[in-house]
Amino acid sequence: MTDKEQMNLFDLTPSAIPLADLPHAEGSTKSPENSKSTRASKKNNLAPATPLPEHEQFASLDALREVACNCQKCPLASTRTNVVVERGDRKAKILIIGEAPGEQEDLSGLPFVGKSGQLLDKILESVGLDTNKDIYVCNTVKCRPPNNRVPTEVETNTCKPYLLEQIRLVDPKIILLTGATSLKSILGEKLGITKVRGQWYEWEGRLVMPIFHPSYLLRNQSREQGSPKWLTWQDVKAIKAKYLEIIGDDSAVDDDEEF
Ligand code: SF4
Repeated sequence: MTDKEQMNLFDLTPSAIPLADLPHAEGSTKSPENSKSTRASKKNNLAPATPLPEHEQFASLDALREVACNCQKCPLASTRTNVVVERGDRKAKILIIGEAPGEQEDLSGLPFVGKSGQLLDKILESVGLDTNKDIYVCNTVKCRPPNNRVPTEVETNTCKPYLLEQIRLVDPKIILLTGATSLKSILGEKLGITKVRGQWYEWEGRLVMPIFHPSYLLRNQSREQGSPKWLTWQDVKAIKAKYLEIIGDDSAVDDDEEF
């Protein structure tokens, strides 16, 4: 697949701007945003996840799903239609964490199936990743907040054991945090998404990269250098390169970044 074809896949509404007009359009991934200094992984003082006591852990994702689907632990239970637990491959090496279910997700019971989800699929598809085969997708909270408001800290914290258990049971090598809420939930609250997106972090023995939420990209359609979409394009190529490195395939992505 050519870069042009990839970029078209990446866009829900293909822009009239030709790929040739984009910086680094010929496949080079060298850019300031892709430099070793900004891409270097960060060992940091982020708060570690507090694992559930062993007697509270789930034996399987099926067991987790069953309990979550009947959960009444926070106020969101009273307004949801469906509990939105997961979609994708339960053995995936890449796990994506979004914020919370929206209307379509609440109705379907599946995360990231609305317009944002379609764009997420396109973004991943642009580098040959299939959300149903290569990725596991879940949210910080499993029930839709009314009017799509941001989940409260109480809701996020109450639901967090499910999220931590999903991470433990799927056991991904790479975690992608889409947007500020999942970033706050996993890496802590002192980090701004615009400052940390595209950077690798080491967290609980896994590689974590914050990326822009697809809904933010839908509101920012520019492809100019430095735009959210352009930056995400760089990020997704770095993610694919790291994924290939992890699975031992160094053939597909022209990316000379070092971890
Ligand atoms: S958001 Fe999480 S903690 Fe709250 S009711 Fe739904 S599953 Fe339970």
